[in-house]
Amino acid sequence: MLNIVIFGAPGSGKGTQSERIVTKYGLSHISTGDVLRAEIKNGTDLGRTAKQYIDQGQLLPDELIIDILASTLDGLKDSKGVIFDGFPRTIAQAEALKQMLAERGQAVSVMLDLDVPEDELMKRLLLRGQQSGRADDNEETIRKRLTVYHSQTAPLIDWYKKEGLYAHINGLGELERITTDICAAIEGK
Ligand code: AMP
Repeated sequence: MLNIVIFGAPGSGKGTQSERIVTKYGLSHISTGDVLRAEIKNGTDLGRTAKQYIDQGQLLPDELIIDILASTLDGLKDSKGVIFDGFPRTIAQAEALKQMLAERGQAVSVMLDLDVPEDELMKRLLLRGQQSGRADDNEETIRKRLTVYHSQTAPLIDWYKKEGLYAHINGLGELERITTDICAAIEGK
């Protein structure tokens, strides 16, 4: 089982690179952001709750997102492994993921940290907002999401370093080069 955490600030390319890795290694892809956007689109109670947080650029409460992740994971059948995209985003979530996988006799294989400078993140997210119309890709919400990333999510870098699972990836440059570096990190584990 290959369980990969793809990590990075909003706009670092997690979604794009996940798609490429999924194709290459035949993994399942869990993007918590995509799960929540689907709930919003379907007009569910969960979607309504999630929207309040997403529109404010805030994280959903840990207990809620951990439950969502657990049921998404349980819904996967005969998987060769999973790429976790946008989860974990707090230390509590990382601990919950470790436990959840351990209960299934599994573990995280590697955490890939897609490192992209802040000015480039802002540029990419503003462009994505124009192209995709994602409501949280506007300048004010992007700034909030980046602040949340630095205060709540970036501490996971040290957490995964202590676990011996951390791999730094230069996320600036050609898509293909970044994919090659990611594959080298995965295969080196
Ligand atoms: P993303 O598409 O990964 O950028 O996620 C969009 C938004 O969904 C985030 O800004 C959060 O409001 C929410 N979200 C996604 N994943 C998580 C998570 N692991 N923990 C809390 N909130 C999340």
